[in-house]
This record gives sequence, C-alpha cells and structure tokens, in this order.
Amino acid sequence: MINIQQITNSKINDVDFDNLAFGKIFTDHMFICRYYDNQWQTPEIKPYQPLIMDPSASVFHYGQAVFEGMKAYKDSKGGTWLFRPDENYNRINRSAHRLQIPEFPKEYFFEGLKKLLLLDNKWIQPGEGNSLYIRPFVFASQASVQASASSEYIFMIICAPVKTYYSGGEINVLIAEEYSRAANGGVGFAKAAGNYAAQFYPTSEALKQGFQQIIWTDAERHEYLEEAGTMNIFFKINNTLVTAPTNDRILDGVTRKSIIAIAKSQGIPVEERPIKVSELVEAHQNGNIQEVFGTGTAVVVLPINSFSYKGKTYKLPEGNNLAHSLKETLVGIQYNTLEDPYNWTVAVQ
Ligand SMILES: *Cc1c(COP(=O)(O)O)cnc(C)c1O
Repeated sequence: MINIQQITNSKINDVDFDNLAFGKIFTDHMFICRYYDNQWQTPEIKPYQPLIMDPSASVFHYGQAVFEGMKAYKDSKGGTWLFRPDENYNRINRSAHRLQIPEFPKEYFFEGLKKLLLLDNKWIQPGEGNSLYIRPFVFASQASVQASASSEYIFMIICAPVKTYYSGGEINVLIAEEYSRAANGGVGFAKAAGNYAAQFYPTSEALKQGFQQIIWTDAERHEYLEEAGTMNIFFKINNTLVTAPTNDRILDGVTRKSIIAIAKSQGIPVEERPIKVSELVEAHQNGNIQEVFGTGTAVVVLPINSFSYKGKTYKLPEGNNLAHSLKETLVGIQYNTLEDPYNWTVAVQ
C-alpha cells in the first residue's frame, strides 16, 4: 500500500500551458520510496516539495543514480494512456543493476505511477503535442563519502506537463571526431545520470558552432555512427531504414524499437547493423541518402537537416516523408486516435 498525503491547494491555475519550457514546471504530487535496512520501505505520495539531504550523500560524490523518461497522453474522450510502460520499468532496473542499485518492486512502480497520474490527472492536457513527461529516478542517499555502493537509496517519480520538444522542428548536427559518449563495457546502455553530465561540455561546444546536437561515434575509432545526442538515430538509404544495433554503448530506446516495428509492418526494409561515417558520406555523394532522423520519448521523431564532419557540411534532402509518416503513426497510437495492433498502450484508470 502507498501512504498518500494530498495537497490542499493545486498550483495548476498558475500554469500557462501554452508556454511551457520543457521540464521546468512540475505537478502537485510526487512519489517517493526509501530503501534502507536492505529493503524498499512503504512508498508515499506527497505534495511536490524539496528534499532534505545530508551533504555527504553518496549521489553528490559518486553519481550513483539512474533515471527514466516516459509520457502519459490524454485522448479526446478524456482517457489517460501510457505507452509501453513495462519497457521503462524493465529498463530502469537494468540501469539500476549496472549501477549496483537494488531493483525496485514492480507493484510499487505501477501502483505509484497510476495513483500519481490519477491525482494529477488535470495536468495532462488533451491535444496532440501535449503530454505529461514522467521522470522516475533512483539515487544513492546514504550519508557517506566512502567510495562504494550505498546502503540507502531514494526512488522517486515526478511529472512535468510538456509541449513538443524542439518546437522548431529540424536540426543540424555535428559528427563527433574527438569526444565520445560511451565505451565498451561501460554504462552507455543505461540511463545513468553521469552519461548526460559528460555530454554537456562537448554539446555546448557544438552549440557555439551552430549545431543542435552531436552524433556520437564509437569511442575507439570514431568510425561508426551510434546515437544523436540523447536520441537513437536512423538513416534512410536507398529506401532502407538503417540503425545501429543495441549493445553496451547504445541505449535500447522504446521509440527506436516502436519505429522499427511500425516501419516493418509497412513493408519498409529495416537493417539493424553497424553503420560507418564513411558509408553516410558516400551515400550523400551518391545521392542515396534520403533521410536522417533521431528518435526518443521527448521528441518522438526528429528530422535532421544536415550533418557536419571534418569541417564539411552535408545538407540532407528536404521532405523527410518517412520520418513524418512514422511519427504520425506512432503519435496516433500514443494518443489513442489510431488503432493499436501491438497492444502498446495501457489505459490509466
Ligand atoms: C532515453 C534515451 C534514448 C531514447 O530512448 P526512448 O526510450 O526512446 O525515450 C536514446 N538514447 C539515449 C542516450 C537516451 O538516454
């Protein structure tokens, strides 16, 4: 069971839902569950509020923390939907396992999520482009600067109403030649907090040069194309959709696997295989590259306008018809306006 303490006054009337900065406004309630004495304690839902932490708490020093990103959608009849939430639940535990964090119980996760979404249901606005971004996360809270796994953790879920990320649409990207995001045997496949901290500096350097994202290449030789910022990346070459296979450097995106399934069901050939930067450059020279796009929960599908490599910029063809049509299908399923032949959506009630 969950202990629930409700707010007395909702903040919702102060929120301008037409002008939301991504992930800056949070709903009235939060879910919190502590781990100590070798077990997860009774979960709680409380008014959204700051935490009091010991300055020596392990997470501040060693970054033992992982998170998830998922969304809830509202359909035109007022129904609330989650998209493949089991995938996020399983993935946060895969991430946690790699970071030596104890697995979080499934019933706590789903009961907590459901209660939170029912309590804060008004924060989920109907209409395509509107959704509630859900951020589950877990971190080491033991008061100790000893460099070893913590004996105490806090698992939380917070929620932010959002509009489509990058409302401007398409982006220009820089292919990494020096920096890398993930290495063999590392934590690239996990949504480990430190992975993102390590991207900020290279990404801000790229921003100064006018790019919105970095295309990460393999750490060893910078030869293979792996991910686009915090998105998976797809290339449409000669009418075939190509994306890197998942491994310990590449995040197993829920959007990625959904896009692959939708493309295959439409008869589009999909290849999950390593793809070299040289193949992309060659495909551009031969006129065989048709589209490049990123995928992720926040953006769904984001077309890429151009890529830059070794000081040269390569413009991509306009149109991005496949990116747009795949996005339309996926978004239609997420908002319950299209049939869901995959049983991906889960009603919250
Ligand atoms: C979260 C994330 C993705 C996208 O995963 P989704 O499940 O589709 O949201 C891709 N790459 C990285 C590095 C990520 O952190």
